Amino acid sequence: MKQVLALYLRCVKDVNQYVPGRIPSIVLYALVRAITPYVTIWFSAQIINELAAQRRPEVLWEWVIWSVAVGAVLGLAGVVMNRWKEATDSLHNARKNRMFMKKFLSMDYADVDDQRTRDLYAQIAQNENWMGWGINVAIENLENFVNGLIGVFGAIALTLSLFTSRVPATAGEWMMLNSPLFILALVGVMGMVTWFSLSRNHVLNHEIAVMAEGATLGNRKYTYLFTFSSDAKRRLDIRTYGQERLMESFTSDTFFEPGGAYDRLTKSAIGILAYAAEAGSAVFTGVVYVFACLKAWAGAFGVGSVTQYVGAVTTLSQNISLLLGTFDQMRNNAKFLQDTYDLLDIPNSMYQGSLTTEKRSDRQYEVEFRNVSFKYPGAENWSLKNVSMKFRVGERLAIVGENGSGKTTFIKLLCRLYDPQEGEILLNGIDIRKYNYRDYMAIFSVVFQDFQLLSQPLGANVAGSSHYDRERVRRALVDAGFGQRLDDMGLDTFLYRDFAEEGVEVSGGEAQKIAIARALYKDAPFIILDEPTAALDPIAEAEIYSKFNDIAGDKTAIYISHRLSSCKFCDEIVVFQDGSIVQQGTHEELLRDEKGQYYRLWNAQAQYYQTKD
Ligand code: ADP
Repeated sequence: MKQVLALYLRCVKDVNQYVPGRIPSIVLYALVRAITPYVTIWFSAQIINELAAQRRPEVLWEWVIWSVAVGAVLGLAGVVMNRWKEATDSLHNARKNRMFMKKFLSMDYADVDDQRTRDLYAQIAQNENWMGWGINVAIENLENFVNGLIGVFGAIALTLSLFTSRVPATAGEWMMLNSPLFILALVGVMGMVTWFSLSRNHVLNHEIAVMAEGATLGNRKYTYLFTFSSDAKRRLDIRTYGQERLMESFTSDTFFEPGGAYDRLTKSAIGILAYAAEAGSAVFTGVVYVFACLKAWAGAFGVGSVTQYVGAVTTLSQNISLLLGTFDQMRNNAKFLQDTYDLLDIPNSMYQGSLTTEKRSDRQYEVEFRNVSFKYPGAENWSLKNVSMKFRVGERLAIVGENGSGKTTFIKLLCRLYDPQEGEILLNGIDIRKYNYRDYMAIFSVVFQDFQLLSQPLGANVAGSSHYDRERVRRALVDAGFGQRLDDMGLDTFLYRDFAEEGVEVSGGEAQKIAIARALYKDAPFIILDEPTAALDPIAEAEIYSKFNDIAGDKTAIYISHRLSSCKFCDEIVVFQDGSIVQQGTHEELLRDEKGQYYRLWNAQAQYYQTKD
């Protein structure tokens, strides 16, 4: 329980941090809601007592005015608190998702890329879809806890006089109702009813929590079905091949469908007993009714107090159930909350240096890979093996090799998305780990193979910000070959239609030009094109690469491609094979070695282009 409480305390703190006011609004609303019924019960009892006894109009007036006034104040406070709570609630999901987004953006890339991290996040999302397990249930628990606690205290306060008001001696043998045994008997019945209801609910809740995995699969199927059938491109295949029925049958076996695991559980003895246990409180109310009526009959208190005691004791048992049930659910939910914190607590284990890359006005940078070997986390094979090479600013460098030979991995290490297990990468003679990461990344612009553009205006996409130098963005787009299209579109047109009806669906080739413009706008000394032309044919790729040669100016341009023809103009070509550098030189030098990999690839590809032509 200590661990559970620690988790909950942390959750409460976090929630109140990402939505300020969320926790006070919940606590205050629960407080007002818990107090209100007791105030009504108490005032009603006073009014009925007066009506049944002395019936003094001035006293009745006083009670009525107080009752209305206090009721109105509480009612108003309840509405205000509820509005406040709803306002914070509407922010809750967006802010919670932002918290996860921040975590993913600040996490070591190796961890983001790790399948286990993705599985954990999918599990957290599914738990939440399933029954709000995790942070949402924790918030609900907090609300119920305050409700239950205030409820219990309020009920005890209003019930005490049921036992302390004594039947007068004139009542004869009814005086036995004053016996403390009745207190014991009532507490005993209440304990039994509460225990039965709780234990049944505990079993039911436990069974539901255990089902989370099955629910995950079911939810995954629904999500898949939804995204698949709402995605225009995929819908085309479904229509063409008449797959509607196959799609419909897809979720028929899921957990939630009639006859599924959840359905069976609710109809099983566990489900039925849990619902039947709820009726137990009615029995208890009946017992209290009899006892309070007898005491009133014997003259211990007025009839109005009977309604007070019955109302208070019934809510007492309900609130004890609520409180204990909340503890039970907290225990069940702790596992799901733990999943959330397992993700949020993934540490940043990459060493973060503090050196600044000297902002050299001559932009003279030299990068060296020294005996670098690397394998992806969890992978068995080395993706790079003993790679050594040097390059300096101003050069045109090409990295070529067949698919899977390690070219992209080389760039990922250069950008420090991963650290190598062996060897080191140096910038101006200093290990890149010693530099401040942001500072280090400022000297690279990369157009990755699977670059992503945002559903945001064109200009903001290029600049990576909504405030930017329009002229520079325009120039970058023109340099990247997007000039003509830019004249039609303008910088403020949204890309894609996610957020704007008039958004433009750019083609693959156009998207690549925008991605290149983004890299140019960053104006970093090193600019890297990692086969950013996958959507283009080899001739268009060669054109972009050679044109880029002019655009790059005094920057270092690193071209990566498995198409050798795109890179033959480079000062230096590095040939990768199975994670190692097997050749290095100019196009002419490399072709001279007829036994070399470059010669083999060149001829294979030349033949391919010729037959294609
Ligand atoms: P290229 O860019 O030359 O096509 P990559 O650098 O992408 O090659 O891949 C080099 C090797 O590393 C390949 O064997 C590939 O399967 C493996 N690899 C690439 N990415 C990952 C990853 N995230 N996890 C595990 N192995 C990977």
